[in-house]
Formats: sequence, C-alpha cells, structure tokens
Amino acid sequence: MQQDLENMVSAAHQAIKAVDNLQALAEIRVHYLGKKGTLTDLLKGLGTLSPEERPRIGQLVNEAKEKIQEQIEIRSQNLIQNQLQQKLESQRLDVTLPGRGENLGTAHPLNQVRERVETIFKSMGFKIIEGPEIESEYYNFTALNIPEHHPARAMQDTFYLEDGNLLRTHTSPTQIHVMETQKPPIRILTPGRVFRHEYDHSHTPMFHQFEMLIIDEHTTMSDLKGILSDFLNHFFESEFELRFRASYFPFTEPSAEVDIQCVKCHGKGCRVCKGTGWLEILGCGMVHPNVLAACNIDSERYQGCAFGMGIERLAMLYYGIDDIRLLFENDLRFLRQF
Ligand SMILES: [Zn+2]
Repeated sequence: MQQDLENMVSAAHQAIKAVDNLQALAEIRVHYLGKKGTLTDLLKGLGTLSPEERPRIGQLVNEAKEKIQEQIEIRSQNLIQNQLQQKLESQRLDVTLPGRGENLGTAHPLNQVRERVETIFKSMGFKIIEGPEIESEYYNFTALNIPEHHPARAMQDTFYLEDGNLLRTHTSPTQIHVMETQKPPIRILTPGRVFRHEYDHSHTPMFHQFEMLIIDEHTTMSDLKGILSDFLNHFFESEFELRFRASYFPFTEPSAEVDIQCVKCHGKGCRVCKGTGWLEILGCGMVHPNVLAACNIDSERYQGCAFGMGIERLAMLYYGIDDIRLLFENDLRFLRQF
C-alpha cells in the first residue's frame, strides 16, 4: 500500500507538471482529491489493514494528500502568472511610437483673401453679387463700350465656345446685369473667376477678379479714391499712399491705373517693387456714359465709378508669394502655410 501511495504521488506530480491550463488542473484535483477520487478510495482501504498499521498508513495518506495539494497550488499560481503575462504581451502598447496626428484643413489662400475683401466691402455697405462665367459677346464686350472690330477686343485673349458665347475675360459683365435690372443707387462688389489665354509666372488661364461699382447722383473720382484708399489700408492693415496714372479702358472715362506704395518696403525700394517703391495694383475710372446708356441709366443724372483688380495679385502681395502658379499647384506643403 505504501508503494501504491508513492506511485500515485509520482503520477500526480507528472500530470500536474504537464498540465497547461487551469481547467485541466481542476480536473486533476478532482481526480486525486475529490470525494470519488483516488485518495479517498485508498482511505477506504484502511479498514482492511491491521490496527497497528493503520496510523502509519493513515499518516502517509495525509502526507500524500498534502503533497498533491501543494503541487496543485504552486502550479495554479504559475498558470495564473503565465496567463497574465500573455495578456500583457498581447496588449502591449509602445508609448514611444509617434502619434497619428490630425491635420486640420484650411481655406485656400485665394479664398481667404476673397473673404477678407468681401468682409471689408460689406462693412462699407456693398452687396456681393456673382454673375455667370459663360457670357455672350454683348455682355463681355459690346455693352461695355467695346464694339465689334474695336482694338480693345484684342487686348484680352478670349476663349470662345463653339456656340459663339465665351468664357468671360473680366467680371465687368456682372455689372451690366445688375445695372439692367436694378435702379440706382447701386453699390456692389462682383467677385469671381475669369479666363484669358495666357500663362507665365504672373498669369494663369483662369484667375479671380473682383470689381467695385457705384452708381449714384453726384458720384466723383474722389469717392473712388476714398473707397480705394479705405479698402487698401484695411486690407494691408497699414496706411499706404496711392498714385493715380492716366490710362485707357473702353468702359471708363476718365480712366486711371492705380499704384500703391510698396506694401513691403513702404516706398524705400526693394525686390518686390523692383526698386521703384510703387506697385501697380488696379485699374479704375468713372463709368463711361455709353455703358450707362446701354443699361438705360440716365447719365445726366447718375454717374458711376468702378475699379477692378485680381485676387491673385492681392494674395501674392499680402502673403509675399512671387509665382502665381504656386496658387494652383495644390501642393500641400505650400497650402499648409496659410
Ligand atoms: Zn518695395
């Protein structure tokens, strides 16, 4: 019987060592120590022993029981530790990895400038009006005092469509639409895309313009100058002198080109203004009586003043960009700077 006990303890030890999960270990416990387990069977066999032998064998059975219990307990702790370790390994986080980050998108610099322009003019009481990008020759030229065969039509390289219409070469046609349908006083700003057949470091086939138009009684060149000056000082957040140079546009009379004191060097001379201290910035003038007449506005009673400029030009001066093409390449390394 003593031999049976030793064999049993040894078999239990092997089984406990081989087990690799808590469920199997629990089954081993039941097999050896349970109510119907192997040890209980052996204890039942004590009755067949002589009274002298019983205490000694009883003692051995108890020792065997304790040994097996102890081994199960140690194995159980091991298994719990292993499970925990595996869990930690599988859920390990490398806190030194770089984060994924979230890049916020921003408005395109041209849209930012356009919004800035619109905000300033809205605060001065102007309405923002957008017109169609496809126009007839009448709205793009004729109504603006540029008759057929007039050399001014050759001033702008126009994209014509197959049906005889064209892509507008300036936002001025929108002014005609407004003057045809609204009675003075009119104060509008007409931003939008325009199209011309040209491409180099300062021209793209599509670009953006906005034009300002006022039609009212007693409107003069000094109104124009005041609004221009207010707008540019607000836009560039500093006071700059303006210089008017006599010029020619078919739709205004008199016409002028306006230079602004260099926004970079304030007139001292730098690379941006090519040392002159001045920057050409826009064209303007008093609306030609022929244009008013084309819209059935009485030019004896009403006068108009207008100016137009490129949003790209403004953006390039404001942000210090020296190639217009950068604005249309959609390079994120460039766009993220704004
Ligand atoms: Zn300068």
